[in-house]
Amino acid sequence: MKRSIKKSLSFSNKGTSLFTLTATSALLALSSLPAHASGEVNVYSARSEALIAPLLETFSKENNVKVNLITGSADALLSRLQSEGSASPADVFITVDAGRLYRAKEAGVLQPFETAHLDKAVPEHLHDRDGYWYGLSQRARVIFYNPEKVSADSLSTYEDLADPKWKGQICIRSSSNIYNQSLVASMIDAKGEAATLEWIKGLVANFARPPAGGDTDQIKAAAAGVCNIAVANTYYFGRLGSSDKAEDRAVFEKLNMFWPNQASGERGAHVNVSGIGITTASKNTDNAKQLIEFLTSTESQEWYAHVNNEYPVVEGVAPPASLAKFGEFKSDNVSLSVLGENNRQAVKLMDQGGWK
Ligand code: FE
Repeated sequence: MKRSIKKSLSFSNKGTSLFTLTATSALLALSSLPAHASGEVNVYSARSEALIAPLLETFSKENNVKVNLITGSADALLSRLQSEGSASPADVFITVDAGRLYRAKEAGVLQPFETAHLDKAVPEHLHDRDGYWYGLSQRARVIFYNPEKVSADSLSTYEDLADPKWKGQICIRSSSNIYNQSLVASMIDAKGEAATLEWIKGLVANFARPPAGGDTDQIKAAAAGVCNIAVANTYYFGRLGSSDKAEDRAVFEKLNMFWPNQASGERGAHVNVSGIGITTASKNTDNAKQLIEFLTSTESQEWYAHVNNEYPVVEGVAPPASLAKFGEFKSDNVSLSVLGENNRQAVKLMDQGGWK
């Protein structure tokens, strides 16, 4: 097992102070905050430090609020929130995928909230229907293809990937991955369980190889000729395109990105979010709300697009430059709450359909 809680770092408004601590001492640090802090907010983040710390630092400086950050794996942090209960020092929990955000809601570690800004800024389908969590950044799960082997005209929908014409040509990671579970959950919503099971069977029959590795591995496999089509999240492709490694950029140049289900009457490309909720145990809810409003400000949304190649959740903010050439797309606007609600069923169907 990987060590779950990697480190904690702290920003104070008296210049930046960073320190790395073990899981045990991190709790001590959180409970021995300096008296001069005008306020504080404690963040548990399943997103890596590089993807959140700079934003927290800016928030801290602009608002004179001390921010304490603990990063760890999504599952480990959720377990920790559950075991700490009302004694948890955490005010907010950040994680990726609506399926995981739903688990946190169901586990009772989040509380509902709303603010006038969030109501306006975050579209209805990108936050929990009861206000337990809000999307911070958006990504689509789409099709990448080798244009030397596959013509764009032959691609259309997720459903079509189960057509026997794609036999032996598709790379996608395992069914244990939450991104795939959420994709299947959206299919259940759109097509029903029986049709989704048939789709899974057809898709599995078209696999180029047994699922292995992460999304980037699927994209690289398509570029290397292991398969002609890969299914992966948009930001992994953007990351390759903006990499300083020539071999990454070569992968990006070799492939094309295809937006599925765009025709009129189709539901649009499947999207998901990284998101945030206020914990049930929060003792600094005003600061937590202020932080969440900051993370959904234009400034922060531009940062997400620029640094992590993600699409903003807030309208009017430019998409990531690395993916700009692929243009705008229609997204499936089903409430992302559905992805969590259908998760159990999705996992069952993937198992039945032989998706390893
Ligand atoms: Fe990811």
